[in-house]
Amino acid sequence: MTERIGFIGLGIMGQGMAHNLLKAGFELTVWNRTASKMESLVAAGAKAAQTPAKVAAQSDIVIICVSDTADVEAVILGEHGVLAGAQSGSLVIDCSTISPAATQQLAATLAAKGVAMLDAPVSGGSEGAAKGTLSIMVGGEASEVARAMPVFQAMGRTITHVGSIGAGQTVKLVNQILVVNNALGVCEALMFAQAGGVDLAKALQAVQAGAAGSWMLTNRGPQIIARDWRPGFTIDLQQKDLRLVLEAADKLGTPLPSTSLIFQLYRTLQAQGLGSEGNHALIKALEHLAGFEVGG
Ligand code: NAP
Repeated sequence: MTERIGFIGLGIMGQGMAHNLLKAGFELTVWNRTASKMESLVAAGAKAAQTPAKVAAQSDIVIICVSDTADVEAVILGEHGVLAGAQSGSLVIDCSTISPAATQQLAATLAAKGVAMLDAPVSGGSEGAAKGTLSIMVGGEASEVARAMPVFQAMGRTITHVGSIGAGQTVKLVNQILVVNNALGVCEALMFAQAGGVDLAKALQAVQAGAAGSWMLTNRGPQIIARDWRPGFTIDLQQKDLRLVLEAADKLGTPLPSTSLIFQLYRTLQAQGLGSEGNHALIKALEHLAGFEVGG
């Protein structure tokens, strides 16, 4: 029997992911807080439900992709939440990026009602969501991961079962530590190149194929030089993920001096109203310190 799928949270990521489930032939029921975002999915063959509870009542697997920890808690534990409608034996998959510790608590609450949970945060941005090429980091029981695999394969390309419940979120936060530290390195290097009077595009060309090369340097370096701040990933979302990193690191007792500094640098940009710019606009924080600008 093919599993009936429910999808909650049709934002930038959820839209593409839900459309890909329909394309793969799954029977789909959707819910979004802002009802108008359900329209294109209903037009493509999905059923719209009035509450998360009703999605859960009509689904064997419920996927959630909302913003932050409190939002996942609201759609699962709220008055008309998933928990109120879910049947024993069903599975909840949370694709949002949220707290690993809160994930474990939610899984325990769902388990008490016979409902399994996987945490499955994604990376690959809106483009990966639309094309079905996301990287998906999965935490939970192996049998549930196997059950969910056809669903993951409809939405992503690289699916990695990284450990028990919460491990997917931990690995997603590992990803974010690497992303922002890499971004700061790229930004410092471009500040130095500018001050040193070299051609920035040539400097990038010279170093990117060697040991200093990275996705951030190749993709966002040219954008910084062109002073193009359109987001692949916004500062506000980046900052949300860094807050999750620092909260988890605090619980673990792990010092993250560099990531803490970057959190504060992004905070200066949010304070200036730049939260909707791309995370590579981090260089503006260094420019404010240095008193000169890069590229242009
Ligand atoms: P988004 O476009 O801002 O969409 C957020 C979605 O969550 C919307 O459907 C929103 O409903 C819903 N939502 C938020 N709070 C809610 C609440 N309290 N109750 C019910 N629904 C709520 O965000 P996104 O870019 O799709 O990101 C979703 C998740 O994926 C986040 O955890 C993000 O960190 C993660 N992620 C994003 C990217 C990316 O590049 N964008 C990449 C990897 C991972 P409304 O439509 O009513 O506002």
